[in-house]
This record gives sequence, C-alpha cells and structure tokens, in this order.
Amino acid sequence: MKIKYLGTAAYEGVPSLFCGCETCKKSLEAGGKNLRTRSQALIDGQLLIDFPPDTLVHSQTYKLDWANISNCLITHSHSDHFYIEDIGMMRHGYAMPCNDFTYYSGKEVVTKIKDYIEKHSMPRVFCMQLNPYQTVEIKSKSVTHSVTAYPANHCAAQPLFYSIENNGKRLLYAHDTGVFDEQTFVFLKKEGYFNLVSLDCTGCNRFDWVDHHMGLTANVAVKNRLIKEGIADQNTIFVLNHFSHNGVATYDEMVEAANAHSFTVSYDGLEINF
Ligand SMILES: [Zn+2]
Ligand SMILES: [Zn+2]
Ligand SMILES: [Zn+2]
Repeated sequence: MKIKYLGTAAYEGVPSLFCGCETCKKSLEAGGKNLRTRSQALIDGQLLIDFPPDTLVHSQTYKLDWANISNCLITHSHSDHFYIEDIGMMRHGYAMPCNDFTYYSGKEVVTKIKDYIEKHSMPRVFCMQLNPYQTVEIKSKSVTHSVTAYPANHCAAQPLFYSIENNGKRLLYAHDTGVFDEQTFVFLKKEGYFNLVSLDCTGCNRFDWVDHHMGLTANVAVKNRLIKEGIADQNTIFVLNHFSHNGVATYDEMVEAANAHSFTVSYDGLEINF
C-alpha cells in the first residue's frame, strides 16, 4: 500500500497568505519541506483524499494521472478540504475527455455536491453519502479499497475521517479531528490493526489541543492508546500531518520535536510504501 502526501497544511498554508509571523518568514527562507500547500493525499495512485483549492497545483507538481483517479473521499466541508468551485472543471467543454468521478463524504458535503452537479448538469459526476462507522468498497481502475468512515471531533458539519484497507494492509487518515471519542476507540479495536496512522497536528508542539484539532501532546496520547488497545504497535508508522503556521513550528523545528516520540513529520511530496 502507498500513501503520497500531496499537501500537508491546514487552511492557511505555510507560509500563509498575508502573514508576517516568524514561522512563515523562517519557512519561506528555508524552503523545501518547510513549504506546505493545503491537505490532500493519494492512496495507491488511485484514491484521492480531500479536494482542496491546491488540487490543480498538486496535479501539475506530481503529474497526477486522471485516467487512473476516479474516486475522492472528502473529510468535511471546510475549504482546505473541499473547494467546490473546482468540481466545475469536470463540466463538458472544460475537461475533455473526462472520466466518471465519484465523491464520498458526509451529508453536508454530499448535499452541496448534488446541488452543484444538478445546477451545472454534470452527468458524469456522482456522490455517495457515508455515515459514521459505515464501510464501503471503492473500486478504482486496478485497486479496490475497503473504506470505513468515523466521526471526527472537529465541527458541527458532520466531519468524517477514514480507515482504508487493501491487500491486508490498513491505514488510518485522521484529519481534521481532536482526540477520538470512546465509541470510536471501541470500534477501531474491533476493526483491527493499523500499519500506518496519520494524525492531525494543527497545533504543532505548541498547543495542547484535544478538541477540534490536535497538537503533539494529544498525538502522543492517541498513539499510546492505540498501542495499548492493540490497534497499533511498535511497527506501525505514525505520521503527523495538517500543520498550521499558528502552531508556531517550521518543518525543521517539528522534526526535532516529533523525533523524540518516533513520529514521522509529513511534508508535501512525502511518499510512504508499507
Ligand atoms: Zn483542515
Ligand atoms: Zn504566519
Ligand atoms: Zn476543518
């Protein structure tokens, strides 16, 4: 199984538009892995997670092959994960040819997409509503993924995060969310072991957030809980992702803090095979 992190920032990006903070200045100066676009990931080259306004940049930077990508999970309706205006690029006369494309998300996002595709008459775009703890089989060009949705501790608009399984390997992609609720830990335990866990680290190592988003302290607590429950172990790859400049750490600074707890810090373009 393979995950490629196309974008790894929260809403503002790093460095952010309009911002003159020290983290943005240092990130711009250092460049490379310190520059972050809005969060998006690609699983096995075929299953997209999230649809931010930087999708076009990711498509150009990483040479995405749209002949292979026809499914996209969306976590929630915040614009760094769901930029509806760019769905319009699949209208007839804009993308030629354009394959059938299906979005999967909670009720709020699906309602918005349905309204949009009806208004713009887009017969090749589909969407499917997912509910918490629901599992679906998603068939892409040459891979079928088993995807389960979980309720995120993030906002009032039915946010979800996802586990994805293929060929005996499983990953958990948990952004944007605070610490999971008890019911979710119980469900995760029933579902089994994860080979890779990607956790929200919007607050970096500065803020001890446990609701809406997490920081490093909560990431350590979730990691320890998952290991204690047998849902993960020392062989599980733990990745921190979805960073804000308001967390006040550049990539370089975050690596130092995360190394102490054996976390990998994501960066745009990071690819992990497991
Ligand atoms: Zn976000
Ligand atoms: Zn800044
Ligand atoms: Zn959000």
